[in-house]
Amino acid sequence: MEERLQKILSQAGIASRREAERMITDGRVAVNGKPVIELGAKADSSRDAITVDGKPVTVDEKRVYILLNKPVGYVTTLKDPEGRPIVTELLKGLGVRVFPVGRLDYNTEGLLLLTNDGEWANRLAHPRHEVDKEYLVRVRGTVAREQITRLEQGIELEDGKAAPARVSVTKQSDNNTWVSITIHEGRYRQVRRMCEAVSLSVVRLRRVRYGALSMGDLKIGAYRHLTSGEVAALS
Ligand code: URA
Repeated sequence: MEERLQKILSQAGIASRREAERMITDGRVAVNGKPVIELGAKADSSRDAITVDGKPVTVDEKRVYILLNKPVGYVTTLKDPEGRPIVTELLKGLGVRVFPVGRLDYNTEGLLLLTNDGEWANRLAHPRHEVDKEYLVRVRGTVAREQITRLEQGIELEDGKAAPARVSVTKQSDNNTWVSITIHEGRYRQVRRMCEAVSLSVVRLRRVRYGALSMGDLKIGAYRHLTSGEVAALS
């Protein structure tokens, strides 16, 4: 089926549609060996050889949507200059190449979505798509009402004010407190920076919910495929 080149590139997870348009007008994209710089150009990914900077673009016929319980000690980038383990190494035998939807830090665990559907991933990662993400955070010591209120009101961070969060204490012990923090933004190390800003020292950080999707009792390092209903509900 013929489709616009920018759609094929974003579907393949190469870039968002807007970035793909830029790649085309910059002359980085070729179809069957010929550079294409018009934005209206179409191609058929099952028939045409499409390249970006000379590298082939592959589009899988089969769309795959995965929910992984990410362990601590894995990066969510596809390459790591320091040679640390990569989350996709946990997905043995999938038969297709998937990439993470957004990021979780090396030291953060929990719910991570992966897919080979670039359009879906871009849609979810777009700031306009305000899906709730719930984190359980274990912090050192006790938590004061005033610290919770500041997080609930929206805390000032280096890169601008974080939107108000929903916050509740879920478990208190002598040395630690578990706090549930729900946000809909996804800025770099956002929960850690929010906690730091109110002098809470994070010992453990787990994402347990993404929109309507909860982790359930998936073991650490295990994954499952989403149902088509779950995929549609998030779209
Ligand atoms: N907030 C963080 O600080 N880290 C994550 O990995 C996700 C949210």
